[in-house]
Amino acid sequence: MQQALPPLELQPGSPAVRLNRLEPGDLRQRLALFLDIDGTLIDLARTPQSVQVPEMLPGVLCALEARLDGALALVTGRSLADVDRLFPARRFVVGAQHGGEMRGPARQPRQEMAFVAALNRLRPRLETILPSWSGLLLEDKGRSIAIHYRENPSVAFELKTILNRIMAPEIGALELLEGKCVFEIKPRNFDKGDVVRALMTVAPFKGRIPIFIGDDETDRAGMAASRAHGGCTIRVGDKRDLLADGFLPSPAATRAWLRELAIRLDHGVDAAQ
Ligand SMILES: [Mg+2]
Repeated sequence: MQQALPPLELQPGSPAVRLNRLEPGDLRQRLALFLDIDGTLIDLARTPQSVQVPEMLPGVLCALEARLDGALALVTGRSLADVDRLFPARRFVVGAQHGGEMRGPARQPRQEMAFVAALNRLRPRLETILPSWSGLLLEDKGRSIAIHYRENPSVAFELKTILNRIMAPEIGALELLEGKCVFEIKPRNFDKGDVVRALMTVAPFKGRIPIFIGDDETDRAGMAASRAHGGCTIRVGDKRDLLADGFLPSPAATRAWLRELAIRLDHGVDAAQ
């Protein structure tokens, strides 16, 4: 018998085995997708603004969203405006800025706003210190700040030390998250797990089995929350991760996997049409 999900390298005992036993019609009613964007759906680029969205991707996401009755969310460190710039044709359900900015059926995970004042205190300090370093890109997203160092990876250790030092007085409200060539300063109260937990309490996500797909450390809270809701997790890239039930080697492989999933959910109708 063909398995419900497209082929995937799975850990033994993964909850995905349960999903695999479902018929396509049942899978449509039982599955919810939580998708990171950068490094998961699209390839990383030198700067966050220079990424390319492959032509087929929006169509695949729209097809999946339709076939899952809307149970598809993008969960990202990017701002909501930036997500809409990448996907101008469709307003997806989004947990942006690690849940600091939400669009969709769920409310903001928490309304604790102490981080706003903490970020305001931190900005002048960052603007004083960072310009003296070459190859850094400061991206102020309003509710979080990313410092990208892809142009100068050798600064990672020293940069982290400095960021930890200047953030020390604000550590009750803010935390430093380490991604791929990026440090993100974000509210301690929000993470991608909050996005999953918030959406899983409301239709059309409620009662479904979540699959969270992500590629780096910033996704682990979302992966853990997906597991806690009886779901499973897929890690993209070459890193093994104990929180992952399955692995896909690259964003291109993720896109192909999602496209195949859309086709299966539609009993063989081409998803990208
Ligand atoms: Mg990512």
